Amino acid sequence: MSRAIRPAGAHFPVAVVGGGQAGLSMSYCLRQRGVEHVVIEANRVGHEWRERRWDSFCLVTPNWQCRLPGYPYRGDDPDGFMVRDEIVRYLEDYVAFFHPPLVEGVSVNRLRRTPAGVFELSTTAGDFTADQVVVATGPYHTPSVPPMAQRLPDDIVQVHSSRYRGPAQLPDGAVLVVGTGQSGCQIAEDLHLAGRPVHLAVGSAPRVARFYRGRDCVAWLDEMGHYDRSIDEFDDAGAVRMRVNHYVTGRDGGRDIDLRAFARDGMRLYGRLTGISGMALEFADDLKVNLDHADAVAEGIKDAIDAYIGAHDIAAPDEPRYVPVWEPAEQPGSLGLEAAGITSVVWSTGFRRDHRWIEAPVFDGRGYPMHWRGATSTPGLHFLGLPWQHSWGSGRFEAVGRDAGFLADHIDASRRLADVCGTLTGAPSELASALPIG
Ligand SMILES: Cc1cc2nc3c(=O)[nH]c(=O)nc-3n(C[C@H](O)[C@H](O)[C@H](O)COP(=O)(O)OP(=O)(O)OC[C@H]3O[C@@H](n4cnc5c(N)ncnc54)[C@H](O)[C@@H]3O)c2cc1C
Repeated sequence: MSRAIRPAGAHFPVAVVGGGQAGLSMSYCLRQRGVEHVVIEANRVGHEWRERRWDSFCLVTPNWQCRLPGYPYRGDDPDGFMVRDEIVRYLEDYVAFFHPPLVEGVSVNRLRRTPAGVFELSTTAGDFTADQVVVATGPYHTPSVPPMAQRLPDDIVQVHSSRYRGPAQLPDGAVLVVGTGQSGCQIAEDLHLAGRPVHLAVGSAPRVARFYRGRDCVAWLDEMGHYDRSIDEFDDAGAVRMRVNHYVTGRDGGRDIDLRAFARDGMRLYGRLTGISGMALEFADDLKVNLDHADAVAEGIKDAIDAYIGAHDIAAPDEPRYVPVWEPAEQPGSLGLEAAGITSVVWSTGFRRDHRWIEAPVFDGRGYPMHWRGATSTPGLHFLGLPWQHSWGSGRFEAVGRDAGFLADHIDASRRLADVCGTLTGAPSELASALPIG
């Protein structure tokens, strides 16, 4: 519930843009440190989960990984996976728990830093200023659909995964699902379970088994320290940040997503969709490679778990390894839309970042903010909630709180230093030369 804060014309020590789990975590951590701030949310808290997830959606990560600062998951199913409406309620309950200084229904359209070193935020409810800003607008902005979508005939219904709700939303007939990241795999399964004929264009995403040797693989990886690994430990940090997530599901208590089993049971699998020509779809001949790769990654994770169990002499039940239940006999290079009876397409092809409203020299050539643990080279401008901002869980419930705590310390220290020096750390200022160095 919005409190009666009217930001227009006001000045705040800190403005947090975005009231999702990242923005709320930031607010909680700033409150803990006594830092005055405001949180500006374009829609309502929980918007992303409420409006951009399908009806059967549930978390892929177990509930115990929901560790919002001061408010870890408190339900009776820590090993389960909250469904969409429970996730929304978790966030709403968080708001009720600490009453952040939240303004909902206001969008920040422009952010710039004045020569005086103050941030100006232009919003749909007027302008205001802040000494420091945290951009917590999420990692997934604009639905990404390849331009070839325009070549599909007009009578084919097209939806992006963020607009998919359930099988009944699509016209009768077969569905083409493009992409096998987490969304594509889960949507293909959703349609498959509803008895819809599904054609699936399989990409190169890896997979992970749900359970192995008596526990959720996430629990093993957590114990093995995997989620504490910092991005600084990777030589290819840029590539790590762009990696596609492993596919698996939390549906019905959690299980593997095995595309080969879907194929055995009637789903039609293809390689990557490479083109649309008239009434024909064209696919790369990488189906076998992609399936083999996904399995190899899943089995590699099991190897690591086995090694950990062995090294620590842990009593864990043995478990036979995965044996492929289906192999592609042929790799169809094309498919006629009409012959296949395809009447709709679900583009599960991800999202693009959109930070164009931020006027600051902090982005690389791909539009990714250059930062260290969320702090940028523009003094006072910070990001929170980016995938792999610091660790695997940065863009997830698991570690957004840890990152928020780190940034809150940094923001608080910058504020205190600015009180002494008259400027934010690193700001171009006559005073900078007066700072004691060395
Ligand atoms: C399909 C899918 C499945 C996922 N599954 C899991 C999972 O199982 N477990 C897990 O931990 N994570 C999962 N995630 C990742 C992550 O938890 C979510 O993306 C989550 O929504 C990120 O939270 P956030 O607060 O960083 O961003 P968001 O939830 O995107 O919140 C950002 C907020 O900022 C607001 N906003 C944007 N621009 C502006 C602006 N200019 N002015 C004001 N407000 C603005 C938006 O309205 C939004 O409410 C999943 C993500 C996706 C897409």
